[in-house]
Amino acid sequence: MKQFNKKLWLATPTMHDDGLDFVVEAFRTNWMSTVGENINEIEKMICQKVGCKYAVALSCGTSALHLAVKLAGVKPGDRVFCSDVTFAASVNPVLYEKATPVFIDTEYDTWNMDPAALEQAFKQYPDTKVIILVNLYGTPAKMDEICAIAKEHGAVIIEDAAESLGATYKGRQTGSFGTYNAISFNGNKIITGSSGGMLLTDDREAADRARKWSTQSRENAPWYQHEEVGYNYRMSNVIAGVVRGQIPYLEDHIAQKKTIYQRYKEGFKDLPVTMNPYIPDIMEPNFWLSCLLIDEEAMCEQLRTEKTASYVPQPGKSCPTQILEALERHNAEGRPIWKPLHLQPIYQQSPFVSVEKDVGADIFRRGLCLPSDNKMTAEQQENVIQIVRNCFE
Ligand SMILES: *Cc1c(COP(=O)(O)O)cnc(C)c1O
Repeated sequence: MKQFNKKLWLATPTMHDDGLDFVVEAFRTNWMSTVGENINEIEKMICQKVGCKYAVALSCGTSALHLAVKLAGVKPGDRVFCSDVTFAASVNPVLYEKATPVFIDTEYDTWNMDPAALEQAFKQYPDTKVIILVNLYGTPAKMDEICAIAKEHGAVIIEDAAESLGATYKGRQTGSFGTYNAISFNGNKIITGSSGGMLLTDDREAADRARKWSTQSRENAPWYQHEEVGYNYRMSNVIAGVVRGQIPYLEDHIAQKKTIYQRYKEGFKDLPVTMNPYIPDIMEPNFWLSCLLIDEEAMCEQLRTEKTASYVPQPGKSCPTQILEALERHNAEGRPIWKPLHLQPIYQQSPFVSVEKDVGADIFRRGLCLPSDNKMTAEQQENVIQIVRNCFE
């Protein structure tokens, strides 16, 4: 096992030379603002790709989620059902609006919101009207089940497809299942603008409101006239130029990520581990990040406090902490699974709904994200596989 000379990252931007033209064009023509052709073009391109009617280009995925939460009519004190194992950005907008997240536990088939727990949550909090649903690491959630439950209870879905652009469920693109949907072009996502995001919807009026809110809520008047609070959330035409150069490569990036996932799967097939799962007959992830889950029987003792981690090495066994430390020693970046939000100090007061056991906590304890960069060579990946295998000796 070699140490990597150059750090091997989890996921970094993969740029293509012909993408630079749109950025240069914006510069040369002085369209260095939050209006311009790049913005108009990428809104059209994403609508076409995802199959939604309207797209509003914004400064980031979090601002898209914030406007989605506002469009869904979330008011201070309201409850919002939220995916639990996810990046904090999925839920921060609920707090911006002074509402209360209720975290819904995870299932083992896709690592997303458990329909059974969601059903349970509606029994406990029947007046809840909004669900924030994440497709974790690029794998679609159980859409049929969750959409049916939402419909039955008259609740609106906000789909957080920030990690899953290009993934499909029964042939339909993620980012199209919610009434309001968010995608992200953050630097480590499957395609990037260095930053940026979009709100997607089929509701024309909603798209218009979001566009207005994102540009400081100017009314249609001869002067700056304001009737409601505004935000400076619109995307820059320069960023949009970067995104415009990336969109044509989305499918290539997905193919590269899938190859990485399959190589790991093959490389670990005789180890007591599984990869982050999906349901092959009904979904095709974008394979944004490849993750491992260690079998319970093969877990060595691991101790995690609020801010530290340690473990006791044991022959034939390992744990995420050991593997992450081994990767770091070899100059490669791994990452723990998102720590469930219901276990975060900031959300101590928020309810958590689960059936039987806490699945999110279990996946957090036994799982980790592996280096998944598009530019990783087969040779480099073989080295990563050896580093992991060595942890189980
Ligand atoms: C990245 C991410 C976001 C936020 O996107 P930004 O563009 O970074 O604001 C939201 N939700 C999830 C699940 C993400 O991974």
